[in-house]
Amino acid sequence: MTEIKAKRLKPHENITSVKLGCYYVAYKKDNHYALSDSVKVNFAKKEVSSEDEGEPANNELLVRVKKIIPPDIVEVEAIDLDYVVELDYPLIGSFKLTDVGRKETIIGRVEDIIQTSGPTLFSLFDGSGVLTLKSFAGPGIRAFPNISKGDYVKAKVLLKSREGVLEAEVLSMSRLDAREAKSLASKLDKIFNEQAKPKNVQFMVDSEILRSLKPRMHKSATLIRTSIIEGRPIILRHHADCDGYSGAVALERAILPLIVKYGNDVGAQWRLYRRAPTKTPYYDYADVTKDISSAIEDTARFGKKDPLIILVDHGSSGQNLLAIKKLRIFGAKVIVIDHHFPGEIKDGKALIDDFVDAHVNPFIVGGDSNLTAGMLGVEIARMINPNVKQIEFLAALSGIGDKSECNEFEEYKKIAANAGYSYEFLQKLSKVIDFESHYLRFIESRGLVDDLLGAKQQELVELLTPDITSREKAGLNAALHYLSKKELNGCLIASYKVEEVCEHNDYPPPGKLSGLVFDYFKNSYKSVIVLGIGDNFITMRATDTLNIHALMDFLKQKLPYANIDGGGHERAGTIRFIKAAQEEVIALTNSFLEQLLAN
Ligand code: MN
Repeated sequence: MTEIKAKRLKPHENITSVKLGCYYVAYKKDNHYALSDSVKVNFAKKEVSSEDEGEPANNELLVRVKKIIPPDIVEVEAIDLDYVVELDYPLIGSFKLTDVGRKETIIGRVEDIIQTSGPTLFSLFDGSGVLTLKSFAGPGIRAFPNISKGDYVKAKVLLKSREGVLEAEVLSMSRLDAREAKSLASKLDKIFNEQAKPKNVQFMVDSEILRSLKPRMHKSATLIRTSIIEGRPIILRHHADCDGYSGAVALERAILPLIVKYGNDVGAQWRLYRRAPTKTPYYDYADVTKDISSAIEDTARFGKKDPLIILVDHGSSGQNLLAIKKLRIFGAKVIVIDHHFPGEIKDGKALIDDFVDAHVNPFIVGGDSNLTAGMLGVEIARMINPNVKQIEFLAALSGIGDKSECNEFEEYKKIAANAGYSYEFLQKLSKVIDFESHYLRFIESRGLVDDLLGAKQQELVELLTPDITSREKAGLNAALHYLSKKELNGCLIASYKVEEVCEHNDYPPPGKLSGLVFDYFKNSYKSVIVLGIGDNFITMRATDTLNIHALMDFLKQKLPYANIDGGGHERAGTIRFIKAAQEEVIALTNSFLEQLLAN
């Protein structure tokens, strides 16, 4: 059954607002019915008296206009059917700074109430945006104590601005009646769903893996848009390497303008969004504890919602499970956008799938880590916000950082070249990102990172490239000089002691140095395996002869007391262990590799 939609005239509206054949809500006024202060109602068939059964308790009646008799009478028939009231109020999202000084009557749902030491702040959401309403009942005294969070209200307000942000002063405010509230609730749901829906954009490249991942990407984009619209804080955690930065910055560039738009407030991008780089290729327990602590504090102090955590370029493996489960206990939502091996895929699902709200990872659909987190981030960013700027080159940049080899990477390189980013420049930029992230460590540094991948990238690349090159040369020379080499069937195993070759905290760090040694030898041998040996870790880089995860499993089995752990990719990663086990790990790793290369 289709619902009847009835209009409710505003008190000042006159007969010119009434349309023939339309439904209106008539209300009782001094023993007569009326549509507004000036529009009186005559009943065509029968007069409705107060004795009539079924007269609505709230003195309202659905009527249909049969005849308009100027200047102030309409002839109507009473309709005994259920109806919804059409809502006709200006939308919050349509207000601009030029509207300051205007008085408006708006409706919406109270999303938040914050009591300051001065006025009470109500944030009102009407589906088009959020507006902060201020009401002062005395210093620190709660205004409108009868109105609570979640209520549907009508407010007469005076539009104002503060530091360039639109806000409003409450002139009067009351709860909507049940019928209007119901109508608003369903309208909000409809608008919300419409706005939360990701934009239908084509992928930048033709890719079967991306096509198969589309439902998961769509789900992630929906959740991110939903969180932005409902003012849920977002914490974006990412691996602190070139790929992690590329994916995270692409998403950031899509998210921040929307937070400002829907929050009606440039400050919202600082209150409702934080990006945090992490050195580990997994979501560390210390990090999750930090995130949860600050979220709980924000909820208590500012009435913020539980956060959405987005993990980029880490988060897929079972190693993240404890951290992710902890997040769930505290009500956070979790999205993982990653290309690290997520463990065995069963029935098209990875282990962490049951514990996160969305998980995008090429391994789930038969792909591999060549499709980088940066590429996934760029494509999801475009679904979140089709107007996102300056992200096309990030996909190619991430591929360079993670040494991708696939058709998609070739396509992204072409796209970047067309946007003015030559392969040579991106190679330099990728090193600059690694270099900067080495010193930034866990600091967000939003402005610096934004400039590094934007306004100041040309200058920074020119400034830093010679220095990076000479540091890399120095590191490589030292490693090559003190390297132990073993050749087997035209294959090379090269190892060096990290503590003897790398200065603590200097650039290049051990993981990077293993990569440089690998690049130095890779064209001279059938296959190359480089081991940077530390007290309690080995950082590895290898050709496709070696699967680091297989070696890790082997070590776990042989040395169950050595706390073998680690992460990264199949050909580039780090295995960790306790110091006491170093000699055993080295001996077993050598025998594993020798056996591998002997075949
Ligand atoms: Mn990566």
